[in-house]
Amino acid sequence: MDLGISGKIVLVTGGGRGIGKAVSETFSNLGATVIINYNKNKEPAESLTKKLGNGSLCIKADVSKSADVKQMFDTVKEKFGRLDILVNNAGILKDALLMMIREEDYNSIIDINLKGPFLCMQHAAKMMLRQRSGKIINISSIIGVNGNSGQTHYSASKAGLIGLTKSAAKELGRFGITVNAVAPGFIDTDMTKDMKDEIKKDLIASTSLGRIGKPEDVAKVVLFLGSNLSDYVSGQVIGVDGCQII
Ligand code: NAD
Repeated sequence: MDLGISGKIVLVTGGGRGIGKAVSETFSNLGATVIINYNKNKEPAESLTKKLGNGSLCIKADVSKSADVKQMFDTVKEKFGRLDILVNNAGILKDALLMMIREEDYNSIIDINLKGPFLCMQHAAKMMLRQRSGKIINISSIIGVNGNSGQTHYSASKAGLIGLTKSAAKELGRFGITVNAVAPGFIDTDMTKDMKDEIKKDLIASTSLGRIGKPEDVAKVVLFLGSNLSDYVSGQVIGVDGCQII
């Protein structure tokens, strides 16, 4: 079955490791050219780019900085002339109780997790509008849907991303552009590796499927949203959480 991925130009922010890496590999394996964005972790992004081939490219940009994002999209325009799929994956987590959150940490979470996707969506939408096609996939979180103690700022950023997704979907649909969000639960990546063992155990116990999610579990749903299987799906938030009750 042709999923409509081969030959597509895909940009994955923070695509060098974790969920972003699995997403980049999944699209590349089906013949897409993947642009891997990184900010600080150059080496993993570069070696993944080499491994993927297919004309893949990596671009340094801090997604929270508008000048960086503009430069990244200028490069995409110059090298490829189009963008078919944008995956807003880059994100950070800094757990702290509400009363302990420092203003600078609140700001960096909102800047990277919410303003970053906003900036990337603005540039992507301009290109996709001209093409009259495109798919935007935002990696939100189960925490943006349900909230969580110790994660108020993270939760606000991921809930904001859902608002951004639903509104942009309404605005861009008439131009043939779909916008959807994925809300992963507890996924085995660098972001979660330092959690205490008892918290990990409790989180796994809270899933109906009884296991931690793999980056590939998320990548498969992102693939669905980037493929022609989801042509009539927009403005949705799809949970990938093993049926986690939190
Ligand atoms: P990760 O830390 O391995 O990956 C995050 C990526 O974002 C890294 O490549 C990092 O370098 C990049 N990044 C961070 N700040 C950036 C910036 N300013 N500009 C560009 N890139 C930047 O963690 P992950 O688990 O793979 O997370 C990927 C996404 O999934 C994040 O948005 C995260 O919030 C979300 N998520 C993760 C989980 C989980 O349990 N791991 C659950 C729900 C949602």
